[in-house]
Amino acid sequence: MSEKLSFVSPTANSPWGTYLSQVDRVVPYLGPLARWVETLKRPKRALIVDVPIEMDDGRIAHYEGYRVQHNMSRGPGKGGVRFHPDVTLEEVMALSAWMTIKTAAVNLPYGGAKGGIRVDPKKLSQNELEKITRRYTSEIGIIIGPHTDIPAPDVNTNGQIMAWMMDTYSMNTGGTATGVVTGKPLHLGGSLGRVKATGRGVFVTGREAARRLGLDLRGARIAVQGFGNVGSVAAELFAEAGAKIVAVQDHTGTIVNSNGLDLATLIPIANKDGVIAFKGGDVVPNEAFWDTACDILIPAALEGQITAERAQKTTAKLVLEGANGPTVPTADDILAERGVLVVPDVICNAGGVTVSYFEWVQDFSSFFWDEDEINVRLDRIMMNALNQIWDTADKHKITLRTATYAVACERILMARQERGLYP
Ligand code: GLU
Repeated sequence: MSEKLSFVSPTANSPWGTYLSQVDRVVPYLGPLARWVETLKRPKRALIVDVPIEMDDGRIAHYEGYRVQHNMSRGPGKGGVRFHPDVTLEEVMALSAWMTIKTAAVNLPYGGAKGGIRVDPKKLSQNELEKITRRYTSEIGIIIGPHTDIPAPDVNTNGQIMAWMMDTYSMNTGGTATGVVTGKPLHLGGSLGRVKATGRGVFVTGREAARRLGLDLRGARIAVQGFGNVGSVAAELFAEAGAKIVAVQDHTGTIVNSNGLDLATLIPIANKDGVIAFKGGDVVPNEAFWDTACDILIPAALEGQITAERAQKTTAKLVLEGANGPTVPTADDILAERGVLVVPDVICNAGGVTVSYFEWVQDFSSFFWDEDEINVRLDRIMMNALNQIWDTADKHKITLRTATYAVACERILMARQERGLYP
């Protein structure tokens, strides 16, 4: 008998609702461990914090922040911090849970956590951004730490924000705790290869999936939604492998070019003013992005983007989930029925947290690796994880997503069982 989670009941197709239905689908493959599955359906701990700051014009503004530690059975909490106007507790719960599955899927010694502040950082000055980051870090400082929960960058957060977080935590604890966050600048114990790691992981898993499908990357047409740190890096690596990037969408709009967009010119323009400032493609309405003729679709923005309707009309044969939670469960079923292969977020975008793990290990040993070593190790971990998941999917005739959950949930629930219930 278990009580319903009291502080949030999931809404249909909400990130938390999506996550819960993904867990339900794996239960038949868990054997006796299914007894523990309820543990995955609620976060271990969720902290809501008030983040007051004095704005440049003298006003006192209050923001709401969160840090959710979903599961720590296998190790300390791990996961990014997101600054976005749509952040809610329910969203952060889902994102923290996906971190639990992700770290277990690639077998990193971590649990899952996530944080966020409901704020539009584009409306803050640099001074206000620093204040909000520092106050938030101080507020969640009672539950984070190098051995308890290690934040990292996510949507709209970066190395500078990680540097302020590391400094604030260090000032409050009286030392220099480089291992408290990852994704830091190189001068502060950051790792080579971390900035590009998520996009690289999307490429590595995508290249392997394409090979298994018999899809030649040379000349393959790719549509990318979200052109930040994940989408633009993945696009560059696929273009280097001979693919054509035929459509790109970001918060400013959508551009297409069936001959392939020139990334060397597009990327710096997109970073500064958004993709529609680029003149080497046609601007089309945002909804047209989803029926652009393509072979590979890379959603690398936010959750809930691939709806049932969009799943029905995509021409892609392969979907690479660079974002967390981009596909709703009804769309997942449609893609499976239509024979479209989905490499799920919890393996596809795990390159970021994998190099975060390398950063954390380097910080503790105070010994830093060169970039080749990082990339070779990243490739190896991602390929091993993907191969194991593929075998599981073949064995049970299930989707890669359910197979990833099967592999990950077994690791998490086995750890849970072996640790036993306290007291
Ligand atoms: N925010 C990234 C993710 O969603 C990276 C998290 C980390 O490095 O801890 O996987």
